[in-house]
Amino acid sequence: MIRPGSTFGILGGGQLGRMIAMAAAELGLRVHVYAPDPDSPAFEVAAAHTVASYEDETALTDFAQAVDVVTYEFENVPGATAAILSDHTRLAPNARALSITQDRFAEKTFVADLGIPVAPFAAVSTPPEYTEAVAAIGLPAVLKTRRFGYDGKGQAMIERWDSGLAAWNDFGQAASILEGFVAFEREVSVVAARTRDGNFAAYDLCANEHRSHILDTTRVPAGVAPQTEREAVTIARRIADALDYVGVLAVEMFLVREGDRESLVVNEIAPRVHNSGHWTLGGAQTSQFEQHVRAVCGWPLGSTRRLGRVQMQNLIGSDADRWEALLAEPGARLHLYGKTQARPGRKMGHVTRVFPEGG
Ligand code: AMP
Repeated sequence: MIRPGSTFGILGGGQLGRMIAMAAAELGLRVHVYAPDPDSPAFEVAAAHTVASYEDETALTDFAQAVDVVTYEFENVPGATAAILSDHTRLAPNARALSITQDRFAEKTFVADLGIPVAPFAAVSTPPEYTEAVAAIGLPAVLKTRRFGYDGKGQAMIERWDSGLAAWNDFGQAASILEGFVAFEREVSVVAARTRDGNFAAYDLCANEHRSHILDTTRVPAGVAPQTEREAVTIARRIADALDYVGVLAVEMFLVREGDRESLVVNEIAPRVHNSGHWTLGGAQTSQFEQHVRAVCGWPLGSTRRLGRVQMQNLIGSDADRWEALLAEPGARLHLYGKTQARPGRKMGHVTRVFPEGG
């Protein structure tokens, strides 16, 4: 049993780690963050930190021995790193959730095997496999590297046969998948938490809009049929149960409309707190960060009740220069991540606005 006063370890020092650390501190935990970058935003809000690479076995062992439980803020934690941590402490979410979600082929196979709809997909590791994949799936399609893709990186829309091979060469011939193009109406996500005992709590479904492949705005409620929302939550729960998942996860889905009929296609699972759940910080009774801490510690989950109609806007690059105007705006809740350099495309903060329901 983890108790207040225990040491809560976080692997990764970005804004997600920072917001988890603040939530853990509010619940009386002592936070220790491990990250390779000495300028990690999470270090500033943690009681202790370790600057070392994710391959440094000695530093990882020392870290694991210094904490009572460890979680992570990113899905690309190397398998060997997860194994070292698991040998010495409790790791949540578990190593299997990592290995499945860091490989798009394994992830899509896992979801499809649960009988949950995904876009048609095929592995592409050689030119003949590409030809076979196009024959099976057709065009247009989306080529994605199996690993390390994010915010549209390692991803290309393929309209013509030869542009797929060119894209694959651009990816350095990395192992990839070809996915059928989904003509979706909207992108939605479920952010939910599960405990070791199988308790589960989902936030309301949110609708996500992207700009240049980066999340721009999240709106809740998503404005879908109640039955679609129930189905989305059921999908997330089945995925969490099948992974024996502990912590907060996000399941990104495409909403497809045919006349009045809405259906859902799962795109991706994030085994961590997620940008599309940032609205819960101020927009729900319990934030996703606190919920993650509760789940990881084996504590009772908090209420996911929404406090109104919520809109979350990311502040990307120079957007954060508007901080003073945002502070002056009544009701706007500003969160800045403490990053010193506002590079284009970099997530610098977010702002949440909560409106009266129906208003
Ligand atoms: P991902 O990295 O898989 O989250 O994809 C990034 C974005 O690309 C998604 O949010 C969609 O907007 C778009 N996208 C990805 N896969 C597909 C697909 N199979 N069909 C249509 N759009 C897609």
